[in-house]
Amino acid sequence: MDNANLYPLIERIGNLLRTQIRKAGNDLGLQPVHLQALDYLARCNRYSDTSAAVTDYLGATKGTVSQTLKVLERKAYITKVIDAGDKRVQHLKVSKSGHELLSACWPPSMFHEASERLGETDRNQMAELLTRMLRELQRANQSRTFGVCKSCSFFRSDGSRYHCGLTTERLSLADSEKICREHTPGTLAAAEFAA
Ligand code: SF4
Repeated sequence: MDNANLYPLIERIGNLLRTQIRKAGNDLGLQPVHLQALDYLARCNRYSDTSAAVTDYLGATKGTVSQTLKVLERKAYITKVIDAGDKRVQHLKVSKSGHELLSACWPPSMFHEASERLGETDRNQMAELLTRMLRELQRANQSRTFGVCKSCSFFRSDGSRYHCGLTTERLSLADSEKICREHTPGTLAAAEFAA
């Protein structure tokens, strides 16, 4: 398939999914960007749950992200927590109602159903190919990868114990599955697809 045919396919998928997300958010007074930011904060690790990281991830302006976070905080989907070691840093934590909201509408049910019909083998193949495409686009755009921790070149594993080679801090199993602002692609490209 040549590029001229591949691009409309990806764009069409994106448009269909955005339409569903817009519909889901409308009932709650939320725009797609609010749900995108909430989803990011639910999946990122403790190094990445700041306003600046949300701005990087969404590729949006600081003003848009600031307004987005205000809406999420006002509706009690997130709360701000001051960093224990640096009082200048605020972490953005997703509340119980924020997680419940995401469970109800993100990703859209239409996506779940279509994905289930594809089957696991096709899903895995697609995840690998889309991850490669995403990495190429990020490389061209010189943007951060925001990949899953366990696929990072700084990720260190000693059997069941993990730590980060960049910060030297311990990581839990749950941490290893989260996405990170400092992610540097390693060798487990196929494991990165949650980004
Ligand atoms: S190992 Fe990489 S992805 Fe994981 S916390 Fe460290 S820098 Fe982030």
